[in-house]
Amino acid sequence: MIKYRLICKNCETTFDSWFSSSKDYERLTKKKFLNCHICDSLNVEKTLMSPSVFISKNISKNEKYTQKYKKTKEIVLKYQEFIKKNFDYVGKNFAHEARSVHYKDKKISKGIYGTATKEDFKELKEEGIEAEIIPWIKDNTN
Ligand SMILES: [Zn+2]
Repeated sequence: MIKYRLICKNCETTFDSWFSSSKDYERLTKKKFLNCHICDSLNVEKTLMSPSVFISKNISKNEKYTQKYKKTKEIVLKYQEFIKKNFDYVGKNFAHEARSVHYKDKKISKGIYGTATKEDFKELKEEGIEAEIIPWIKDNTN
């Protein structure tokens, strides 16, 4: 259902009317089924203000989703900032470096971060090496 605000060009009265669709409105206009309630003129048109309840509802739903996504992204990016500042990036050598620290007691002043495969991660866990998977957003500035 669509609600249109109609205006009578003859007496300038505006009134709301419901239609099943915009095509339904056009059909009724063509057949001259739309007439002014006041002066009975057939010179009735749709005004530019034609609120459609259903469309506005959809927009607000999408905005809500976007807001939620933005918030999550912000948290992840803050977390990334912290890690970049306080950890050393070892890239794809992560599993190797992690083992060096764990077994050879390699001295490191900072924690390390990098990329590892799922298998690497599973093995590290089994060997009792502390590692965590965190979501990472790739940004082009770095
Ligand atoms: Zn009228």
